[in-house]
This record gives sequence, structure tokens and C-alpha cells, in this order.
Amino acid sequence: MLQSSNSVLDSAKPSSELLADKIALEEHFVLAENIDASYAVRDLPPETRQRILDLGSGRIADMDRGGLDICILSLTAPGVQAIPQVKEAIAQARRTNNYLAENIAKNPKRLKGFATLPLQDPEAAAQELTRCVRDLGFCGALVNGFSQVGDGDSAFYYDLPQYRPFWATVQELDVPFYLHPRDPLPTRQQCYEGYRWLAGSPWGFAVETSIHALRLMASGLFDEYPKLKVILGHLGEGLSFGIWRADHRISRGSGAPRAKLPMSHYLRENFYVTTSGNFRTQALTNVILEIGADRVLYSVDYPYEDAVEAKEWFDHASISESDRLKIARANAQKLFHF
Ligand code: ZN
Repeated sequence: MLQSSNSVLDSAKPSSELLADKIALEEHFVLAENIDASYAVRDLPPETRQRILDLGSGRIADMDRGGLDICILSLTAPGVQAIPQVKEAIAQARRTNNYLAENIAKNPKRLKGFATLPLQDPEAAAQELTRCVRDLGFCGALVNGFSQVGDGDSAFYYDLPQYRPFWATVQELDVPFYLHPRDPLPTRQQCYEGYRWLAGSPWGFAVETSIHALRLMASGLFDEYPKLKVILGHLGEGLSFGIWRADHRISRGSGAPRAKLPMSHYLRENFYVTTSGNFRTQALTNVILEIGADRVLYSVDYPYEDAVEAKEWFDHASISESDRLKIARANAQKLFHF
């Protein structure tokens, strides 16, 4: 059925022009002072290192080439989540957010921001998110997986009870929380032995992040805060493919989630997914069938991925024009009130 109420479809612009106005929301930067502290950046070729530092004309030129009207920027992984010293994590999150706000102010129509949050201290994270949304005009938060707190070998996931007041603030502010991957800690990588590279973006990112998302669902978090909106990258880190089986096995007695409803209910009602770094039509089709085109958002994963390659795939993928326009722009406009 035609969705004639969709504002993008009612626009006077032809679809080819609308597709050049994409909104992307998993696009990363790093501060020069921290570039060598980030394992994601350390070994990158010099051109990519330059791109991730650039919040000015070089980035805007790449956005133009990639058909990107607006990018919502975020600190690259693992960011402050990997700073076990709580005070330092809080200070660095604040510095990062101020730096991002200063750069957005130079290009406010093209650049927006996601807050960096020191989830080592849930109360400080809630305060920083509130400051970023209310004072700096940020669109929500992007958090790079679990946080290390005190001990470098610790991993705190956000289904834990101490995070419930933080989630209350997220719901109250009515902004999305982007759960971005990070590598598992070195002491928790036994299954990758001999294949250490699998622990990162080729496979481990999706394992780490999909389990974190399942923990949030199973914990009852979304029963307590039903309006929470969590975004996952990489077409949902594999969850749309595996969620039916998880529910099926739970319904046969394998497992006892604290949540009231099947996991797939929360995936459909509380999650959005982006196309970042997963430019595959078969996977996109699965996501659309499982959670619906209204919950899929365009993204690149710049500068780790190429905005032109992403555009060329997406603009010609075998999906309906209605879904293409929603994913490219209209869903993000609705979610972020642009
Ligand atoms: Zn990313």
C-alpha cells in the first residue's frame, strides 16, 4: 500500500535529489590528543587517521561525495568506556563533548552530535547527557559498549541495576541511545585464540554488541521504561536473523528472561538499526522483514567505511522506493525531530 502520508514521498523533489540528502548517524571522530589511545585508530593508514580528525572542510567534502546532508558525529570506539579511572572518564567525556559542540557550531546545518558518556558513574553519565541535550543541542548518546570501572579487567553492562536511574533520564529526555561495539577484553577472548583478528570488527563486534542488547531486553529494562529507543549499527549486529530462534528456545524452556514479553517484541518496539558498514541487500531485506522499514536508518561508519561505496550500494539495492526514502532520511527526521 502507498504511504501517502509520508512527508518525504509528498515532497516536490524527485527521489534522486532526496537520496542526495541522506542523514547518517554512525560517523566517527577522535580528538588529536587521544588518537593513539584508541585501538580502532592506532593502526589505520595515514589518510584515514586524517579523516577521523577532520571536522571541517575535508569531512564536508566527503559528505558531499557520499550524498550525505547531515551527519550525527560520535567519538570512535572504545572512547571513554575504556578509561577505568572514573574521574578521568568524566573529565574526558566533558572535554570531548565541548570539543564536538564547538565544531558543530561551525557547520550547524550539516553536523550534529551524539554525547560521549562516562558510564563508569551512572549519575555523572545522566548529568552529562542532560547537559549535552539541553545545553549543547545534541541528538542523544553513542556509547561504545561496556565500561571498565576501577579495575581494567572489569566490564560493566548497562542492564545492571545501578543503571536504572540513568535509563530513566534517557527516557525522560526522549533521545536515542546508540549502542556501538567495542572489542571484548583480552582476558575474555578464549574463543578467538589463534584468530585474534576475529575479535574485532570482522565478527567479535557483532557478538559483543548483540549479547549486550539481549541482556538489556532480557533484564526487563524495557518493561520499566517502555519508551526507550536504542540504536544498533551494522544492520542490528545479527539480531534480526537470530531473534526468532532465541524466543523459540526460551518458549521451550531453555532460559528464563526477567522480561515480560518475547525478546523479539523489544527488538521491534525499542530498537532501531542502521546500515553502517553492512552494505548487503540480503541482510537489509531480512531486517526489513523482521523489524520493519520504519526502524532502519542510513549510516556509513565513516571513516572506516567509504561513503561513496555505501551510497552506490544503497541507491541501487532491491527494495521499494518508499522504503529507500524512509531509510535514507525520513525515519531519521522523525526520530530526531529534524
Ligand atoms: Zn562505528
